[in-house]
Order: sequence, then C-alpha cells, then structure tokens
Amino acid sequence: MPAAIVTGSSRGIGRGIAERYAADGYDIAVNYHTNEEAAEETASRVRSAGQEAIVVGADVSDPDAAARLVEAAVDAFGGVDHVVNNAGIDQHVFTEELSPEDFDRVMDVNVNSAFNVTKAALPHLRESGDGPSIVNISSILAFEGAPVEVHYASSKGALLSLTKSHATDFAPEIRVNAVAPGHIETDMVSDRTEEEMAEEIARIPVGRIGQVEDIADGCAYLRDAGFVTGETLNVNGGELMR
Ligand code: NAP
Repeated sequence: MPAAIVTGSSRGIGRGIAERYAADGYDIAVNYHTNEEAAEETASRVRSAGQEAIVVGADVSDPDAAARLVEAAVDAFGGVDHVVNNAGIDQHVFTEELSPEDFDRVMDVNVNSAFNVTKAALPHLRESGDGPSIVNISSILAFEGAPVEVHYASSKGALLSLTKSHATDFAPEIRVNAVAPGHIETDMVSDRTEEEMAEEIARIPVGRIGQVEDIADGCAYLRDAGFVTGETLNVNGGELMR
C-alpha cells in the first residue's frame, strides 16, 4: 500500500487530510506535537477507512524529530510516497510587541519543519513508484499580509518560495505544490467572536467559512495531478478576489 506522512494531523486540517488520503487508499503516519489523544483519534479514523496508521509524536521544527517521524513511517510502511507539510502555529501580536524569539518560533514551526520533513523524506520519495508528491500548507495571508501576525504571514510566504524551489530541484521525480487556505473552521481560528465571524463570512464570495474537507480536496487534487508542480492552489471561497 502507498503511504503518506501528514504533519500536524492530530486535529483540524491535518486530520481532514489524513482522513481523505486514507479514503483514497493510503496508509498514514499521523503526527502530533502535544496532543497524543487527538492523534490516536485520527489514527482510528484512518483504520476505520481500512488503512494502516501509526502515531508519531514529533516536534517537526526539530530536524532530528522530523527524521524520526520519517524513519517510523518507513519502518511501518516500507516507504513514503507522499508528504503533506501541514503543521503550523499562529499568534496574534503587532510588531511592537512581537519578540524575536516568538518570530523565530513561528518561522521554525511553519517553515523549517517543512524543510526538515521534506529533506528526511527525500530519498524515500525518490524510490516511490506512486508518482510521489509533497504538498505544503500555506495561507491566504501569504498574499494579503497581516499586520497583527507578520511572522505568520511571512512564514506562509516563505513556504511558497520553498515550494517552487523544491519543485524545480526535485523534478521530474517528485512534484511539489502548495495549498493556500482561506478561513477554515478549526481550533486555530476558534477565538473569533460571532461578530468577527459574520464580518469574515461577508468577505467570502461563496458565503461560508471553509471546512477541512475543502482543503483535503485541494491536497488530493495536487497529489494526483501529474502535470502540476510548483503551483499554489488557493482554496478560500473567492476571498482573495476581494
Ligand atoms: P490547528 O487546528 O491549530 O492544528 C495544528 C496542528 O499542527 C495540530 O495537529 C498540532 O499538533 C500540529 N502542530 C503544531 N505545532 C507542531 C509541531 N511543532 N510539530 C508537529 N505538529 C505541530 O491548525 P489548523 O487550522 O488545522 O491549521 C493547519 C495548517 O493550515 C497550518 O499550517 C495553518 O497555518 C494552516 N492554515 C489554517 C487556516 C485556518 O483558517 N484554520 C488558514 C490558513 C492556513 P498538536 O495537536 O499536538 O498540538
């Protein structure tokens, strides 16, 4: 069976991607940082879909932990065919109050982790017979910027450059693309008030907040789209047109 690693798949978008890849016939390495119980729930959903799952606790901003995640997947599944670099954190703070340490932490988790996991998985992806792919999860804020989360927006912009650089570097064997979600209903945005949500929905042409399945659909498309590499798929209900 082909296998995929989905970083940060204990919750939210990562869990949605893990479930979708499992439904499409992939064994899944479920990764979490702090929330083992939630990761076990993702794994049990993968198994319910008839696929194998392993659960690996690893802070993927740490290169050694990222390598351990990849090794665990190779040990369990005999290889790695697809990677989704989804793990990410956010923090709302203006530049005046933003510490260099917090700036670095967001860059580490959102950008360095994708580099770390990709680098560790590279030799295994090169051996895959499944049309191997990498999908990096960016954000609409890579295009819009965000004064109250400059480190987050910057990290998501950097991921797009990483995507193009790796797409060129790893061609033709491995395709590398990005999905840039708009506002998706997960824990990451659960602090919004009802009023803020209504304002947000008013900015989205399709008239609703996105769901994790919307992002999973985009990832599955890019995983299978043999003539697409170095691209960013915007999945935001049309918000970027505004
Ligand atoms: P979420 O609900 O907060 O979940 C974040 C996931 O990342 C969790 O599984 C968490 O693990 C994991 N994680 C965090 N730091 C990690 C680390 N150092 N190592 C390994 N795993 C780590 O977030 P989400 O909304 O699903 O977001 C997923 C991705 O989509 C992120 O890259 C985010 O920036 C991006 N995105 C989200 C939105 C949105 O509106 N939700 C919009 C644009 C882009 P634990 O459970 O163990 O903490």
